[in-house]
Amino acid sequence: MRQLLSIPPTIVRNRRRRPQLPRYLTYIVTFSCNARCIMCDSWRKPSPNDLTIDEIDSIFSQLPQLDAVRLSGGEPFVRRDLLEIAHLAQDKLRPMFLHVTTNGFLTDRIVRFCEQRRKDIPLQLLISVDGLADKHNTIRGNPQAWNYVIKTLEALAPRRRELKLQLAVNQTIVDAEGAEHYRHLRDYLEPLDIRNHFVMAYDASATYSLETETDVAPTEIGQFTTFGDFSKQQLSDLFDDVERDLERYAFPERLAKRYYLEGIRNRLLGDKGQPNPKCVALSTHMRLLPNGEVPTCQFNTRSVGSLRDQSFEALWFGDEIADQRNWVHQCPGCWAECEVLPNAIYTGDLLAKSLRPSQLFGRQRKNGSPPIPKPTRKGLPILSHKAPRAEPRT
Ligand code: SF4
Ligand code: SF4
Repeated sequence: MRQLLSIPPTIVRNRRRRPQLPRYLTYIVTFSCNARCIMCDSWRKPSPNDLTIDEIDSIFSQLPQLDAVRLSGGEPFVRRDLLEIAHLAQDKLRPMFLHVTTNGFLTDRIVRFCEQRRKDIPLQLLISVDGLADKHNTIRGNPQAWNYVIKTLEALAPRRRELKLQLAVNQTIVDAEGAEHYRHLRDYLEPLDIRNHFVMAYDASATYSLETETDVAPTEIGQFTTFGDFSKQQLSDLFDDVERDLERYAFPERLAKRYYLEGIRNRLLGDKGQPNPKCVALSTHMRLLPNGEVPTCQFNTRSVGSLRDQSFEALWFGDEIADQRNWVHQCPGCWAECEVLPNAIYTGDLLAKSLRPSQLFGRQRKNGSPPIPKPTRKGLPILSHKAPRAEPRT
């Protein structure tokens, strides 16, 4: 409760661009990965220098109490000590939520983690599934990917309450066929009572690029280049489906999903970069790379220092980070879901936008009919296809 009460002052400071301590940590525990996804280079990246448990302990001991810790990869479960990392996060950072993203390949290890972790806080487990069967296998670069992930989902779905687990599927939409599969996957997962969230894959990601210290951030407000090619109609159909499905979500989750949907729809169909909250990277949101470096954000991996080599205090209040914070303040904004949510929450933008009737109740309906699709502009060009890099979700 005390953590929740301290969010309003954080919002005020973020809106005034005042630096402050982190409250939300995204920790990429390793770049190593057992998948070979077409939209991600993480599995090609060497990750020889991952922090050891002792180093993680020392870093976490210096950080303040956090609201949420997100453990990601690469594939986080390739680290055999992930349970220890999670327990350190729970002990030292005392978050309200622990969040783990996984490709779901290592069923036994994932189930054991869920069983053995201490249940004093809820675990949000987000498992990546990008379409049905062969579609998923092709995207994930493994002919058994679908079998693995379904085995994991079927093992965990009936045990959610016992394991204090919030289980969801994350679908990265990489192409028009993937957009079609959104519906198929939703229907397939329905008997398991699992929702598939969608995210649109960007064409580029600095974090998962083979280059180090690279900047692929948008250069204009509203800029969003998708990984694959889509017609406007395909996107419009997808977004309408997603909007209809939001009715099934619990209230707070529905608001967050609707907020993301509004932003992606406006960027890809409406030529409008709204919503566009101020960015809280290097402020409320801190990222930590496997080797202890603290990068600027998902799209700019310029490091502001290494927590392996320097104290948190020296890094967080140093000159290097001050320069990069100025860069963040001038960034026109991105729409990667993992950045959008902390930005939206910790600037108050989610709350402000959510109080509008269109956000509370969805887009206008007539006599109980499905939501009315926003008019699409005819004759717009097909979105361009760019280099094979994207926003991976593990
Ligand atoms: S809005 Fe923030 S997270 Fe997104 S590219 Fe800009 S600085 Fe990075
Ligand atoms: S998207 Fe995830 S599962 Fe796929 S290669 Fe990248 S890190 Fe691995």
